[in-house]
Amino acid sequence: MLASREEAHLRTAALTVGTCSGEPGRLTYGIFPGADLPTGSADALPVIIAQGKEPGPVLWLTANIHGNEVAGIPAVHRLLNDELCGALRGAVVALPTLNPAGLRTNKRRPYNDDRDPNRTFPGARKAADEGSELTVYERLASRLLGAIGDTADYYIDLHCASILSVPFVIRDRVLYRNEAQRSGAAALSDALDAMAAAFGFPVVAEYPPSAYVAKELHRSTTGAALQELRLPSLTAELGAHTIVDEQAVAATVGGLRNVMRWAGMLSGPAEKIAAIPQPPHGRRLRRQEGPYPAGTGLLDFCVGPGSFVKAGGVVAGLKDIWGRPIGDGFVKVSTDAWILGIEDGMLAYPGAPIAHIAVEDDAPLIDAWPA
Ligand SMILES: [Zn+2]
Repeated sequence: MLASREEAHLRTAALTVGTCSGEPGRLTYGIFPGADLPTGSADALPVIIAQGKEPGPVLWLTANIHGNEVAGIPAVHRLLNDELCGALRGAVVALPTLNPAGLRTNKRRPYNDDRDPNRTFPGARKAADEGSELTVYERLASRLLGAIGDTADYYIDLHCASILSVPFVIRDRVLYRNEAQRSGAAALSDALDAMAAAFGFPVVAEYPPSAYVAKELHRSTTGAALQELRLPSLTAELGAHTIVDEQAVAATVGGLRNVMRWAGMLSGPAEKIAAIPQPPHGRRLRRQEGPYPAGTGLLDFCVGPGSFVKAGGVVAGLKDIWGRPIGDGFVKVSTDAWILGIEDGMLAYPGAPIAHIAVEDDAPLIDAWPA
């Protein structure tokens, strides 16, 4: 985190990421070396630095690590311009795609590594992976986290959820390994809360620690930056993958500028975010998969993203291909739920969640690493 004005000054005076070096008051462009390709070139990552005339914090902003989640790219392009550089204190380091291979093929994963790239950043590996060599994306992720650690004060990674989904921000729980880390964890958690609130999107907490580590979310971009580098780091979901929702992009650009105001990088009052669905007031939420269908069949959704469903309420009808009900004919939530998004398509299988929802969260926001 930012230690002092002098440190900020030194950092922004010599800000270099890959081949891109910041210059006061303007945009500069370059690349971060990516994976070598067998066909003779390399999949370099584009880097843009927007540097203000005054020193200040450095915000890292990345997008499109999941190649079919494209809306973050126009958000980066719209945010970074000469007007921003003229008003900015500090700098924004932006990488509009972390996955050029996936962007070209409109696929979540790059074709040269079958792992989810957003589960490859440095952090405890699964026992089954211990001893195996790092994969193509794991090597890139390790270098990227090093560059973030060398230069960033804050970090935001832009994603998209299912085709029918609302924009929201995910806030990971801050985990600590020992008592010495614990007080710092509380301060980091408070900073994360304030940063998320400044963004202006609905905020959902990430899964509780055991599920978080089991899903390797501590090895996501922002998970690793938060847990390993102890940087305030957020994941923003911009609605639909594959397509670009213009309203979500506009709201994201406003949200990013609001975070910069909160961080002291821009002046003036927070701007009003373009209308996006908001959850019911007064509940702290965490994300959860579900509900689950009782059998194999076809879904007939009767709610959409942004709907609030009371415990026992119906999310979708469940029918066979002839239109006859399966079981009682419905998929219901067992607890009050705000619908973040419904899964793409209409196929129902046992064990496959049909939606992603936000439910009331009573788990602590700082916690010990699971054993
Ligand atoms: Zn994603």
